[in-house]
Amino acid sequence: MSDDWHPRTRAVHGGVRRSQYGEVSEAIFLTQGFVYDSAEAAAQRFEAAGEDEFIYARYGNPTVAMFEDRIAALEGAEDGFATASGMAAVSGALMSMLKAGDRVVSARALFGSCLYVLEDILTRYGVQVEFVDGTDLDQWRAAISPGTRAVFFESISNPTLEVVDITAVSELAHAVGATVLVDNVFATPVYSDAFAQGADVVIYSATKHMDGQGRTLGGVILGTQEFIRKTVEPYMKHTGGSMSPFTAWVLLKGLETLDLRVRAQAGSARALADALQGHAALARVLYPGHPSHAQHALVQAQMGGSGGTVLSLDLSGGQTAAFKFLNALTIPVISNNLGDAKSILTHPATTTHQRLPQDQKDALGITPGLVRMSVGLEDAGDLIEDVMQALEKAQ
Ligand SMILES: *Cc1c(COP(=O)(O)O)cnc(C)c1O
Repeated sequence: MSDDWHPRTRAVHGGVRRSQYGEVSEAIFLTQGFVYDSAEAAAQRFEAAGEDEFIYARYGNPTVAMFEDRIAALEGAEDGFATASGMAAVSGALMSMLKAGDRVVSARALFGSCLYVLEDILTRYGVQVEFVDGTDLDQWRAAISPGTRAVFFESISNPTLEVVDITAVSELAHAVGATVLVDNVFATPVYSDAFAQGADVVIYSATKHMDGQGRTLGGVILGTQEFIRKTVEPYMKHTGGSMSPFTAWVLLKGLETLDLRVRAQAGSARALADALQGHAALARVLYPGHPSHAQHALVQAQMGGSGGTVLSLDLSGGQTAAFKFLNALTIPVISNNLGDAKSILTHPATTTHQRLPQDQKDALGITPGLVRMSVGLEDAGDLIEDVMQALEKAQ
């Protein structure tokens, strides 16, 4: 791979390991283990496995290695470790680096399972976790102090699409020697420059845009070679959250079309955000790429102006209107994945964020009328027409 290659070229050719057959499409090495030429060779490999020498699929596998190298190349990371799901990546990155007595500062607006890992699991092992409003730099400044070991946030929060200033928060964290871990799902690799902006570790659920067609669960932890091989790999390979070779193959194919899909979906999301501004049935239209977003300038600087593929709509008529709206749609489906070719809507207050007490829902802006829409690859005009007719029925 050439250092001059642009992301789209890396996403197609990065990480390829061809077998002796010279296959064009990457091979699926659907094997748990590897045969050694001799007892001595086995002993030698366990002592120190060389480049492209594999031992057991929980430790590594050629198809999984292709995926890891391709996404690392795309994101501009030194290295990556592929995991069984996005949550295996989030929990693995945090658990592998933290110990009892460490302090973590995290944004409060998090995906439900991320919140559970930080609030319920890490604290059980003696890690101290402090939550802040991710959009408020003063709160980050007050919470990050000498002794803070790690800082964690979603670069765009789910479902209210608040944006965290990666550069500013990283500066505060680095001043006290803390590691910055960014869950970057909503930004997508296409619009992300998180490493250049200061992130030390970038985490993706590959289930979302990288697959993009609703087939697999997967995740990846990206960082320096030192962090991935010395901290993450020993934890992951011994605790069992590794990615399946079949999943890695699906995701390799997904990465080849990622840029085209994400740009098309983000274009349609913007078109919907434009069309829905000021609609009588809506109290709010939240889309980071629209000038009406409270952090539009930050989005311009951090994501090259695109707001990603997800928007959230707040129906003035509350939950009754939101349910009527969802039930009246004919093209998008009601489900909770995102980044998919199919447009998907969900009602966070009663599904993904149901577990949260009311005061936390209020604090996070998860109102009864809020619906999250992941915009797919359908014709944008069809989607706008369908959303408009469903809003009409919801009023
Ligand atoms: C979906 C998601 C995850 C978890 O990913 P899974 O692949 O479902 O385990 C973590 N963080 C964010 C922001 C997500 O959207």
